[in-house]
Amino acid sequence: MSQKPVALVLHGGAGVLAERAYDREIAHLEELAIKGRDRLARGDKAVDIAVTLVRAMEESGLYVAGKGASPNTAGRYELDASIMEGPDRRAGAVAALEGFVSPIQAARVVMEATPHVLIAGAGAADIARSHEVEEIAEPESYYTPAAVADDREIATGTVGCVVLDSEGHLCAATSTGGTLRKRWGRVGDTPIIGSGTWADARVAVSCTGQGEFFMRANAAADVSARIRYLGASLDQAVRGVLEDIGALGGDGGIIAVDSVGKVSARYNSQGMKHAIAHPDGKITAGVR
Ligand code: ASP
Repeated sequence: MSQKPVALVLHGGAGVLAERAYDREIAHLEELAIKGRDRLARGDKAVDIAVTLVRAMEESGLYVAGKGASPNTAGRYELDASIMEGPDRRAGAVAALEGFVSPIQAARVVMEATPHVLIAGAGAADIARSHEVEEIAEPESYYTPAAVADDREIATGTVGCVVLDSEGHLCAATSTGGTLRKRWGRVGDTPIIGSGTWADARVAVSCTGQGEFFMRANAAADVSARIRYLGASLDQAVRGVLEDIGALGGDGGIIAVDSVGKVSARYNSQGMKHAIAHPDGKITAGVR
């Protein structure tokens, strides 16, 4: 392991049912956390690790992101994603993107190849296509919704990753198919920098849950603000934001890592699929 602390946290969504087992998802998250840990030990960059791991979750069909996304009320698959790097607060996001395997790769293109932070709809597809982000060959048969449209099924299942690399750089990435039965054109917290995703020199944060509440709480950025202005610990800051969301009537979860490798994975829903690669190399994973 490198001298400086490294750590990462992954989530596969806070929309879980108390009575259901999530063995496949947890095994998958654990496997990805091990891959991430090994890449951190080799000195790979936070942004590269975050994009690779989020893409693997998008492609798996196990979560409500990428292949596992659900259609909106108009029967369309409109996906959201965002990424942010800590050192210079560079950020990129796509909203209501249709037709691509990996929305997080499209978000990275927005961050690295444009002066913009957020591009939506057909414009997002255009920039992704012009940078050769992989298009879905047969959109009609590609998606295998992980949340079946049945009232007992989960309404949320975003994926996210936060990383502290051996250079001390933080990165956060989040990708989603959005909430179940969302309206055509609805955009949630996931592509909104400060709401669903945040990274600065202090902390990297990725959220999951009822996006409208995370937007009204400015959730991801508020984790950093609580550390900065209140002197809160990372875990206190995450709990404080979830209390605020709970007071508004919302639920969900938050993962975060700070610049010294402290990690937090909390939720006020029935659980959150997550895995952690701790600074000592230990891997932990679970739903609750
Ligand atoms: N936060 C996402 C949204 O509202 C949903 C989720 O976390 O699963 O679009």
